[in-house]
Amino acid sequence: MSALATQTDRSYWAAIAERLVPHADAFIDGSFVAARSGERRASINPATGAVVAEVAECGPEDVDLAVAAARRAFQDGRWSRRPPRERQEVLLCLARLIARESDELAVLETVDAGKLIADTSTADVPGTAAILTWYAELADKIPGEIQPTGEGDLALVTREPLGVVGAVVPWNYPLETAMWKVAPALVTGNSVVLKPAEDSPLTALRLAALAREAGLPDGVLNVVTGAGPVVGQALGRHPDVDVITFTGSTAVGKLFLRYAGESSLKQVWLECGGKSANVVFGDVADLDRVADGVIDGIFSNQGQVCSANSRLLVERSIEDELIQRVLERTARIRPGDPLDPAVNMGPLVSVRQAATVRQYIETGKTEAELLTGGTEVPGAATYAFVPPTIFGGVTPDAVIAQEEIFGPVLAITSFDSEEEAIRLANGSVYGLAASLWSDSLARVHRVAPRLRAGTVSVNRVDAIDVAVPFGGFGQSGFGRDLSRHALDQYTGLKTTWINYR
Ligand code: NAD
Repeated sequence: MSALATQTDRSYWAAIAERLVPHADAFIDGSFVAARSGERRASINPATGAVVAEVAECGPEDVDLAVAAARRAFQDGRWSRRPPRERQEVLLCLARLIARESDELAVLETVDAGKLIADTSTADVPGTAAILTWYAELADKIPGEIQPTGEGDLALVTREPLGVVGAVVPWNYPLETAMWKVAPALVTGNSVVLKPAEDSPLTALRLAALAREAGLPDGVLNVVTGAGPVVGQALGRHPDVDVITFTGSTAVGKLFLRYAGESSLKQVWLECGGKSANVVFGDVADLDRVADGVIDGIFSNQGQVCSANSRLLVERSIEDELIQRVLERTARIRPGDPLDPAVNMGPLVSVRQAATVRQYIETGKTEAELLTGGTEVPGAATYAFVPPTIFGGVTPDAVIAQEEIFGPVLAITSFDSEEEAIRLANGSVYGLAASLWSDSLARVHRVAPRLRAGTVSVNRVDAIDVAVPFGGFGQSGFGRDLSRHALDQYTGLKTTWINYR
């Protein structure tokens, strides 16, 4: 790295990547340990195919150890019964350590999951620290209630931590999604066993090391790496796990409901897939702004966003004009090295995911008109790259309009009336998010309540904030991450009747 390299230079980030020594063992009861079996799995940089680390491939026996450590920590009160303000201090310290290590965490995320350094360094990692800070500050601001039950009795209603939380997270926002679960679980006094996705375990392991440095007691946060059907299933079926909080596909979300039903009836909270509609009405004057939103809504993070606006529903009167602006912007997207801050699209998370997306693109070619993109990125170093791809004239029942592709693929359908727009937008098994563009306040108020989505963004896409709940309806799951409402997922209401007569 030249002495003058800054965060706007690829060389700045490449130098950090070169000297990285990732934690690769599981983190159980305050120590990094190999899997009992000794097995390991290569974590691959999807931009280059290089092995970033050989990560512990845990099995059910490792999950047993982690859950037992979490249970011991919960039972003896080293964290669960600590005064809220002391928990707050530890978590705020952890947030500061995340900020201190932000460059390395950003690079870890980029080389492990292929995410753009331009995003990990400015959004994912600072966002993770901000989420933790927000929840830590809540630690001593979660009051109970006294209900007016009549003379002689006092009914105290308090929120109690549930115990051992199993947090199973995906690879698209590995560190940030982990913090969506870990922060509210820890601030309310639970112990956590975190299971990162196979393709992106490294920042979760680094988080564990930082938590230890911050003074989080042993056993309170454990990280168990390995295969979903093995480690995830073992957590889901474990009799001593009290609650599962999951973000991932709808298919696996359904499995967690089954695991719970066939084991201990643990609580399960699911944030699953989406096929979010971006509805643009013909009364919008500023189509440039809309076009920017369309691009952002589908191509950021290579389309690997659960709330990605993957269906563009546009009023026929402005269809041609909007598509032209969207195509002009798409032509400026150049997939490339995600460690280069000037690059605006990276690879997908893995060669396997790229193959899945390419398959959908092949299907799309048989059912709609390919306007740009396709399956190949000229000159791309590995097969994990897929170009930004747009289909026009997509019918509502087409596979590419119904199934979550989780890649940079946009399906455009036109409509002629408000009623039709609402029907098309709601014509999905999912209900995670929707966007709505209109210059008519009356129309916004008419349409927004009728869109079946956990979040409706008006005249923007994908609005999100730690203070605001995030989650879906239908097969996008239930329960809400972020905001005060997430605390409900990690606490149970407890009533204590005191007879003082
Ligand atoms: P996935 O469901 O395959 O994996 C998610 C997690 O579940 C991973 O940790 C994985 O190891 C584990 N898992 C996989 N199979 C399992 C099994 N049989 N039993 C137990 N655990 C198992 O999803 P993914 O491919 O990692 O992520 C993409 C999906 O996540 C998309 O569908 C996307 O929409 C969804 N997602 C949703 C949100 C949201 O908030 N709603 C956010 C991000 C991603």
